[in-house]
Amino acid sequence: MSLDESIAVPAFAEFRFPHPAHAELNLKRVDRGLQIDGAVAVDVAGECVRCLEDVTVPIEIDVDERFDPPGTTNDPLGENNVLSGTNLDVSDLVRQLVTSALPFGLVCNEECRGLCTTCGRSKNPGGGCDCPATEGNHGESQVENPAFEDP
Ligand SMILES: [Zn+2]
Ligand SMILES: [Zn+2]
Repeated sequence: MSLDESIAVPAFAEFRFPHPAHAELNLKRVDRGLQIDGAVAVDVAGECVRCLEDVTVPIEIDVDERFDPPGTTNDPLGENNVLSGTNLDVSDLVRQLVTSALPFGLVCNEECRGLCTTCGRSKNPGGGCDCPATEGNHGESQVENPAFEDP
């Protein structure tokens, strides 16, 4: 049995999901449990942890999960009741997969230079900070220990 579904994911912590997650899953019955393979794709929206700009990051989750009926061991999501009896709650499963795959923080770009400690604006190109370039070159915003000087 295969599924191709869109599943709305509620906001979680500081993360929002502007579109429903797209889940393509293959369900196979094994022994008394269920093997689920496939992929879940979703866009995660939030603030860049460095510059606080709104950012949307696509994430893709490979799914390779085995569910055993409640009461058996070896069931990582057993407490969450994803598999109750023989019915699989796909929406619940997808929400759990998405929330467990979230990054610790979003960044708009790996190169993001964050906010200027002088003017509070973004130091990225076009970000509004026009403080003299020398400010950052001596590491004032990066190094908090005043004893650390250039040799
Ligand atoms: Zn950023
Ligand atoms: Zn600045």
